[in-house]
Amino acid sequence: MSPFDKIYAKSPIFIQEIGVSIFAFKRELKRSGITYKKYLKFLMKSYYWDESVIEEYQLNQTKEIIEWCQKHSLYYKKVLSEVNASSLVLSDMKNIPILKKEDLRNHFNEILTSQKNINLFFTSGTSGAVLKTALSNNEWAKEYAFIWRQRKLAGINRSDKLATFGGRNIVAVGERKIFWRRNYINNQLLFSAYHMNEENLSSYIKKYNEWKPDYVQGFPSSIHILAKYAFDNSLSLHKPKAIFTSSETLLLHQKQVIESVFKVEIYDYYGSTERAGIITQCTEGNYHVNIESGLLEVVDGRFYWTSFLNKTTPMIRYDIGDTGDYKILNKRCECGTCFPIINQLSGRVGDYIITKDGRELGRLSHMFKDNMNIKEVQIVQDIIGEITIRIVPDKYFDLKHAESKIINAFRARIGNTLDIKIEICQHISKTKNGKFKFVISNIETGVKK
Ligand SMILES: [Zn+2]
Repeated sequence: MSPFDKIYAKSPIFIQEIGVSIFAFKRELKRSGITYKKYLKFLMKSYYWDESVIEEYQLNQTKEIIEWCQKHSLYYKKVLSEVNASSLVLSDMKNIPILKKEDLRNHFNEILTSQKNINLFFTSGTSGAVLKTALSNNEWAKEYAFIWRQRKLAGINRSDKLATFGGRNIVAVGERKIFWRRNYINNQLLFSAYHMNEENLSSYIKKYNEWKPDYVQGFPSSIHILAKYAFDNSLSLHKPKAIFTSSETLLLHQKQVIESVFKVEIYDYYGSTERAGIITQCTEGNYHVNIESGLLEVVDGRFYWTSFLNKTTPMIRYDIGDTGDYKILNKRCECGTCFPIINQLSGRVGDYIITKDGRELGRLSHMFKDNMNIKEVQIVQDIIGEITIRIVPDKYFDLKHAESKIINAFRARIGNTLDIKIEICQHISKTKNGKFKFVISNIETGVKK
């Protein structure tokens, strides 16, 4: 816990809400300025471009990022020394080496093109090891414009009221009554995703219905828990204009429950901490590659992104770790765009475990965000409410230290609803296709019926 987090945890709610709002204000200063406004204006036009314009734009952006890397990135000066950007065509991309997560991790400082005024973001790869990304304020603002293009296309305005069900630790673990905090800057009520259990859900629903948001945003698993509880207990939920999900794979059963209980459509958003590229769901329910965010190649179902968004930590043919049955169809959608459609964005389905009280828990890689000197980690579940965490340690690994960190991370999120066993091994087997699976669930349905 940082000193700030400690002070926050001990403060009364109204002080916490001022803290939440100051945090939001600072973030808005960085990402809602003139760059954001100009770029959003551009994005609202480019959404309707013809296919030929899209192709030309993608080629030019690819050339530009390659030239940029050759000039400013020590790592890419070497990797791209043979590439002549000016005569490049997109089919040449297959000759450029893939950037793996471990490359990004091991060569971060050489890849980086600037050290000034950057914002650092952390995530953990599928292997569990921490991955760092740097982003300039302008790049952050551009990403925000992508988020707002999707919202605007769904009929949402900046001043609209928002309810968020997400992963920020805004409410103390032991809290028994007030599971939400106001952010006065964004007209937002943040609900804690970590306290959503049978005991507390009726207060969540009461507060949600009082708040009457224009739109809802958050993890699909959290919004699903709320919708499922309302359905099981015949409680009605205020109807927003739209629901936006992100950060986890939106599973089909979640989508069905959420849409039928809230009686509105979900707009799903695919992004990444690395800002490799963006895919958004449109009014017709199709997943469109946001062609201004990056070039997406799909090779044997794997996503390779060349990011146009992140020039601070450039990624060329970045293997982001998303696998599945992807298929790109080229056609103009009823929503008006010619952006390619991803058929079946199945992402990381199966990366869920089930707690003793029947909750599905996703986004598990976040439990391993802190450096615990782990080479690889895998979560296995054979019985509901129990998991085994397999760890391949590195030479600095300390079992006691890692064990307490992991157990605390799970406790902070779900309390004592899971028995955790840790198993140290030298090797974790890959699947038949050579792929690493972060979560192996041997639970029959994977869904609480
Ligand atoms: Zn569409």
